[in-house]
Amino acid sequence: MIDSSAKVSTTQQVVDELHARPAFVMVSHVKPDGDTLGAGLALGLALKKIGKRVHYFQQDPVPRNLRFLPDSEHVARELPSDLPSNTLFVFCDMSDWRRAGEFLPKVERENMLDIDHHLGNSMFGKLNFVLENECSTGTAVMHLLRALKVPMDRDIATCILTTIMTDTGGFMHSNTSPDALQLSAELMEAGANKEEITEEIFLKKRVAATRLLGRIIDAMTFAHDDRYCYSYVDDAMLRETGADGEDTEDMVNVLRGQEGVEVAALFKAIDGEIRVSLRSGGRVNVQAAATRLGGGGHFRASGLTCHGTLKQAFAEVDAALTAEGL
Ligand code: 5GP
Ligand code: MN
Repeated sequence: MIDSSAKVSTTQQVVDELHARPAFVMVSHVKPDGDTLGAGLALGLALKKIGKRVHYFQQDPVPRNLRFLPDSEHVARELPSDLPSNTLFVFCDMSDWRRAGEFLPKVERENMLDIDHHLGNSMFGKLNFVLENECSTGTAVMHLLRALKVPMDRDIATCILTTIMTDTGGFMHSNTSPDALQLSAELMEAGANKEEITEEIFLKKRVAATRLLGRIIDAMTFAHDDRYCYSYVDDAMLRETGADGEDTEDMVNVLRGQEGVEVAALFKAIDGEIRVSLRSGGRVNVQAAATRLGGGGHFRASGLTCHGTLKQAFAEVDAALTAEGL
């Protein structure tokens, strides 16, 4: 449930809390992307610089294309047994703590800091640093780094620039504000490795992934006077192409890019559940559509999980999108 009484915390409140705690666990969401991971690593690296103990928790492994991120080799699914009882768990880039997955041990609200930029954040933390106008969670973290007065270095800069480039789609999406570009320039001046980010996240493709994309394109279906394009991937398609779930990240954007398409959906029926990625050109609110079905996200990019058959999932998502004006 969204706690509508909870207020967004101020930068100073969060910084005071960071100073008061001896130990931290940076928590990323399941199926991690460059924002959830980069934001946690950036803050983790900064906290280490001021003498704090820092661990990183993430249920899923670090995706292949994010392994270049500094300190990502320390990301783990297990936590040490000797954590102090006042360890602060910092949830990055998730509108609810449940997005961290079921492997996360129970954490009291008192020990939760929520840093996010999604619409409809459930304000689940003791402190909630939820800045909906930020292009990434990493740029929200940047406000904290400035207030902490930790000197910027190339590793932290690379992590923050990764969050911006991930969530703006390489400076393509509508959240690419002048502020985002200005901050990116500052981060490059501080040594952020933009070339590596571009190469690892945007350019390099596995051949198996490209073959899978071909299959997804073959299966494209158009509806709502061709304003809606959807497709799917299932276990058989992965087996036949040699690709895996990680390779499907961002393929939904190809569907959204088709001429005349306002909304795109990619249904990923993998390992017994159907994950759906939704993208909008800006007229239809896909965050609202996803929320109808238990998911969430942003106005133009959201996700959810369906149970049942693919055919049922197609119908449920179509109904939710129709209800949101598609
Ligand atoms: P993607 O399609 O890339 O997996 O997700 C797009 C956006 O929707 C991301 O900002 C992601 O955090 C959000 N999102 C994806 N799946 C879910 C979900 O199941 N619940 C919520 N609340 N947000 C989601
Ligand atoms: Mn994000």
